[in-house]
Amino acid sequence: MAEMVPELGGLFDEVIARNPGEAEFHQATREVFESLGPVVAKHPHYLDTEVIRRLCEPERQIIFRVPWTDDRGQVQINRGFRVEFNSALGPFKGGLRFHPSVYLGIVKFLGFEQIFKNALTGLPIGGGKGGADFDPKGRSDAEVMRFCQSFMTELYRHIGEYTDVPAGDIGVGGREIGYLFGQYKRITNRYESGVLTGKGLAWGGSQVRTEATGYGVVFFVREILAAQGKSFEGRRAVVSGSGNVAIYAIEKVHELGGKVVACSDSSGYVVDEAGIDLELLKEIKLRDRGRIADYVAARGGNARLITGGSVWDVPTDVALPCATQNELGADAARALVGNGCRIVAEGANMPTTPEAIKILAAGGVTFAPGKAANAGGVATSALEMQQNASRDSWTFAHTEDRLSEIMGAIHARCLETADEYGLPGDYVAGANIAAFTHVADAMLALGVI
Ligand code: NDP
Repeated sequence: MAEMVPELGGLFDEVIARNPGEAEFHQATREVFESLGPVVAKHPHYLDTEVIRRLCEPERQIIFRVPWTDDRGQVQINRGFRVEFNSALGPFKGGLRFHPSVYLGIVKFLGFEQIFKNALTGLPIGGGKGGADFDPKGRSDAEVMRFCQSFMTELYRHIGEYTDVPAGDIGVGGREIGYLFGQYKRITNRYESGVLTGKGLAWGGSQVRTEATGYGVVFFVREILAAQGKSFEGRRAVVSGSGNVAIYAIEKVHELGGKVVACSDSSGYVVDEAGIDLELLKEIKLRDRGRIADYVAARGGNARLITGGSVWDVPTDVALPCATQNELGADAARALVGNGCRIVAEGANMPTTPEAIKILAAGGVTFAPGKAANAGGVATSALEMQQNASRDSWTFAHTEDRLSEIMGAIHARCLETADEYGLPGDYVAGANIAAFTHVADAMLALGVI
């Protein structure tokens, strides 16, 4: 990673001062600023026009009370968020996260990343993100429904197919999108399919959307491997998490001839040298909403549960962090390098700490940042919006082909841009610069807004 040039240092200090206590947002902006040195040197108008300063200020930030009643009749209060960050390229677009750790700084980091990720897809979508500090774990379906209905009772007035189009993220899957869409439809009396993505196939959803982020990150790694004259055949992979992104990443690695030998959740990780049994994992995680320990109990054989360690201690060729931000730190990076890992591609958003990225780079590991590698989810959301707008629905094969093409195009654009700025093979710089110039040029064309 490059150091930040002095011309941007002052702007970065301002971001910190204006957004106190939002560590994740500072981290996400720093990473982009560190890539922009060569851009402002070549094109000083990006500084003169204050477009970078404008980009760091969300267009709109909404914070609201979410009151609901639990199964015991007890009133619960959560805090809801929607940060509408940038709509230069299209309606705000980005997921909703339900997790107890959610606060404004997390929503802003995710929204900021989303601007650049969405630009990289080449599709007409702006950037936004939202969520709540609600913990769905251990809650009944009825409680989750009441929470979603209350959340949407405020959110509905801020969203719309031409305004802002939320989707899922941590803690928000098909069940939650269903409850949210149902309440939106009821309040507005409109069947506005394009207002949310990640919908069920029977009511306006797209084939491949569920699988898209996980498949997309593996397609991105396939491109990296191909550029190095290699393939997935016979390669070991380790995936963190065992949620939506992780499960479908595992599925695609197996389809392409690789073998995933470990995955995790927040209570530990499993090592299964025979290869993760995906049907079993899906039953436990998707059907029963169970824990990773249940996998070992049901699988038997040589599968092992490890608590208190790090999934990144398991030797692997390819590492796919697919759980959450800052889950892969310096020690993990050293373990990966020491064990001969060659590629790290982020399925999650910002899972790798800045220090870890430096250690990976020094160790000769190819590193693909989330805003490029995990863009397949939002790209397929945009394909869902296309289908909704044209009252059409595409086949699985056609939609997957489009996803594969989009991931190929993002990969090519990262490499071409990195080459153009004299940084061959630097996916972080390539992604940040290609996305920034795309969004900034659109913002400049629209005037001082
Ligand atoms: P899910 O809720 O489906 O799964 C999240 C997984 O990560 C679970 O296994 C969870 O374990 C684990 N996890 C979450 N928080 C922590 C934590 N603090 N420590 C350890 N493990 C944790 O979410 P998704 O799969 O949808 O999202 C995963 C990541 O991918 C996030 O960073 C998200 O922003 C990113 N992403 C998601 C997209 C999508 O389309 N869904 C698109 C692009 C990026 P546990 O159940 O124990 O909490």
